[in-house]
Amino acid sequence: MLGLIQDRPLLISSLIEYAALYHGDTEIVTRTVEGPIHRYGYRQLRDRAKQLANALTKLGVKPGDRIGTLAWNTYRHMELYYGVSGMGAVLHTINPRLFPEQIDYIANHAEDQYLFFDLTFAPLVEKLAPLLKTVKGFVLMTDKAHMPAGCTIPNLVCYEELIGAESTDYTWPDFDELTASSLCYTSGTTGNPKGVLYSHRSTLLHSFCVCTRDGLGLSSYDSALVIVPLFHANAWGVPYGAAMCGAKLVLPGPALDGKSVYELLRDEKCNFSLGVPTVWLAMFQYVDQNPSLDVKKDILLQRVVIGGSAAPRAMIERFDKQFSSYVIHAWGMTEMSPLGTTGNLLPKHMTLPADQRIDVQQKQGRVVYGVEIKITDDAGQELARDGKAFGDVKVRGPWITKGYFKGEGGKVLDDDGWFTTGDVATLDPDGYMQITDRSKDVIKSGGEWISSIDLENAAVGFPAVHEAAVIGVFHAKWQERPLLLVIPKPGQTVDKAALMTFLEGKVAKWWLPDDIVVVDELPHTATGKLLKIKLREQFKDYKLPTAGAAA
Ligand code: AMP
Repeated sequence: MLGLIQDRPLLISSLIEYAALYHGDTEIVTRTVEGPIHRYGYRQLRDRAKQLANALTKLGVKPGDRIGTLAWNTYRHMELYYGVSGMGAVLHTINPRLFPEQIDYIANHAEDQYLFFDLTFAPLVEKLAPLLKTVKGFVLMTDKAHMPAGCTIPNLVCYEELIGAESTDYTWPDFDELTASSLCYTSGTTGNPKGVLYSHRSTLLHSFCVCTRDGLGLSSYDSALVIVPLFHANAWGVPYGAAMCGAKLVLPGPALDGKSVYELLRDEKCNFSLGVPTVWLAMFQYVDQNPSLDVKKDILLQRVVIGGSAAPRAMIERFDKQFSSYVIHAWGMTEMSPLGTTGNLLPKHMTLPADQRIDVQQKQGRVVYGVEIKITDDAGQELARDGKAFGDVKVRGPWITKGYFKGEGGKVLDDDGWFTTGDVATLDPDGYMQITDRSKDVIKSGGEWISSIDLENAAVGFPAVHEAAVIGVFHAKWQERPLLLVIPKPGQTVDKAALMTFLEGKVAKWWLPDDIVVVDELPHTATGKLLKIKLREQFKDYKLPTAGAAA
């Protein structure tokens, strides 16, 4: 027997309609690419998204067509989020930090019909344009006054000109909630990027999670600085969740340096923010270089979501002590929309001493409702949820991919529908997960596994260390042993012996790195993760001092 409840489809357009009606004056604040701060409310965002939908319809865009973006976090990008998906087309957010040949591959693979881009990327688009076979026109996301003279991009249109003449009168179409809404390519370290195709239904269900207390806890009380890019895994679902609950959005545009981030947090009284560890390191550096700042008075941050790569303990502690901010350490991936686990505390943790509470916060968080998770050994057998055993993380759920766009990568689910994440972790009985590695980065020493991430976390706790990376290097007796690479903080030097002593007691003795190398820089992927494949290549012939002494 079926229930007798309406089955209104879960559509992205319903989010912006809700926000326009009930939070119409709640602000979306942008530091624009052109420079000045721009602000308007959800009502205007909805109206302009409708103007855009009218303009796209006139251009001949049909349901299912892909519309590419190369753009920062701005109100215009938000208008594309709602205008494109709302009309039934597919928003394809492209990561501009990828190599040009990857961008060209992605836009062609997705068969983008139009490409919307920010002024910053005009030189890049100028080079790419002749290679983009399916793109019929290019839209520069600026006004007439800022259109560059002498630009050679063909079929170039100005965004404000395109939508300015259109009516705000547009009725969002109704369609199946399983319809594709947006497309985001993973920035894998090997092979071509693969497309994850979200649906309206998956996006809406994920948004509910963003707005639950035990998800990201986003609500109408929040002023949220969204530093995580709109081109990286849907900015962790916040552009949609914010409309669902009417949160104020603060969008930093291209200015992600420490000063700009600090000033936006201060001026817009942000109590909530999200970003990868690297952006917070930049803000800390700015604070360090400006001791006259009154951080406690300026910054009202209550919650900071950190994900994308592991939040170092020292970062969680610093937010706690200096900013009185609670770090929600979160884990997920593009393939998971992206939320999987979020670092909220349980009642029993509330009375813990700070040090023990931070032990809990340092884990990647608790599994949210909507994501089933398990860890398995090499034979695929499920491992205990005891916080000790670590194995391959597998997930299943209504916002997790079931296959990449156009079938790339073949079958990605096992017979029971589990998706292998490529992460290695422990799970504890309360559902907290702790990543111990990427499956390909784990260091296999004499048949045992050493977590490169745990070692990195310990190393960045050393006062003179700015960033750390640990890779496995060939060792005649143990197959692999850890090599620690560190970048010193500006103006400081790292005393290797002191660092080694510092690490003792923080990790198991046999996990201690066999050597430490001080470097000027470390390679990163387009989403800010350490590019270990490159480091492994760079250090493949490195002779560990222990390699000769087969102890
Ligand atoms: P992406 O799809 O680019 O967001 O990358 C997803 C991957 O980033 C995950 O599979 C993890 O390996 C890594 N990742 C995300 N969040 C965290 C975290 N909090 N700690 C460690 N690794 C993370």
